[in-house]
Amino acid sequence: MARIVQKFGGTSVGDPDRIRNVATKVKREVDRGNQVAVVVSAMAGTTDQLIGYTRALSDRPDPCEYDVVVSTGEQVTIGLLAIALQSIGVPARSWTGWQLPVRTDGVHAKARIEGVGTEAILADMAQGRVAVVPGFQGVTDDGRVTTLGRGGSDTSAVALAAALNADRCDIYTDVDGVYTADPRIVSKARKLERITYEEMLESASLGAKVLQTRAVEMGMKHHVRIQVLSSFEDVPGTLVVDEDEIVEQEIVSGITYSRDEAKITLLKVPDQPGVAAAIFGPLADGNINVDMIVQNVSEDGATTDLTFTVSRGDMARAIEVLEASGRTLGFERIASDPNVVKVSVIGVGMRSHAGVAKLMFQTLSEKGINIQVISTSEIKVSVLIAEDYTELALRALHTAYGLDAD
Ligand code: ASP
Ligand code: MG
Repeated sequence: MARIVQKFGGTSVGDPDRIRNVATKVKREVDRGNQVAVVVSAMAGTTDQLIGYTRALSDRPDPCEYDVVVSTGEQVTIGLLAIALQSIGVPARSWTGWQLPVRTDGVHAKARIEGVGTEAILADMAQGRVAVVPGFQGVTDDGRVTTLGRGGSDTSAVALAAALNADRCDIYTDVDGVYTADPRIVSKARKLERITYEEMLESASLGAKVLQTRAVEMGMKHHVRIQVLSSFEDVPGTLVVDEDEIVEQEIVSGITYSRDEAKITLLKVPDQPGVAAAIFGPLADGNINVDMIVQNVSEDGATTDLTFTVSRGDMARAIEVLEASGRTLGFERIASDPNVVKVSVIGVGMRSHAGVAKLMFQTLSEKGINIQVISTSEIKVSVLIAEDYTELALRALHTAYGLDAD
């Protein structure tokens, strides 16, 4: 007998037929003799609609009341799923986030979970009843309703699995797992059987769209084995696990890309102490995130060029901020380019293997692709290239690292 938390996303519970389908997946685990708790999202589109209602009445709705409204989508689906389970003979009952309770801090609309009450669920499990629990919902110590931020149901599920000491947290969604690259671009992409938490966190475009980042962080902290799998197809998914659970670790597990990049270069910046602080300080104050940064050693000791990237939507604002402080900074000119893409190779195996970056540079050079900026972390090498080469670069790298499906 295993203890399992199953989580179903918005598309999976999008209408009564789909909720019936979810009920059969829960029943299957129950019939195997497992103890099961289920976490559900709101029906697809519901949360957007609820947010729209609050915005229709105010540009800046009271955050407490905003959470009272947007948390209701999940209350509908817990009740509906409990009904669907009962109607196929599976004993079930729903619990709201404040009944359990799922205790959070008071940061409305993006609250963090501080603890999950498991008493009620454990009692249900002991009696062979399925507890159906809402994702996304929480409650503060002084009794106000909170929500966890968009996509927060994943985090609810992992937090519950951690609190229940569950053997697995199965996240049922509309994709059937995590791939070595975006299969819409790289037709030879393969589904990964396993991936580490760290790789999942590094691969924003592979990972974060599949699972909320905070859910992965929580899984890593509490060693919750997370499985990502499809609600609609009966095929094995991808298991997100600790590194030591992966027997044959590939050096590189995936190639990712992000088009949400823009490059800004400041030409002839004075090469003296305090300049970087003077440039990046105002950007940070303006809430503009800077990602890759390169600065050269100046040849003449007087000036140097400084290049960095921001997300595409922030480019115009970043330039405004820099121009406003331009006179005091004393650079000559700003150049910018929104038509760039960041391509990354990711893998925990590169910690112990040399030559990963070299193969990336060689492969891109053979395709005549110019590298504009490079950055690395312990388990990732990223390059900035012209956006037109996205597909070519992804496919060539996928082949070069031996990731292609046969
Ligand atoms: N219903 C919430 C949202 O749409 C939470 C979730 O589905 O994960 O963001
Ligand atoms: Mg989701």
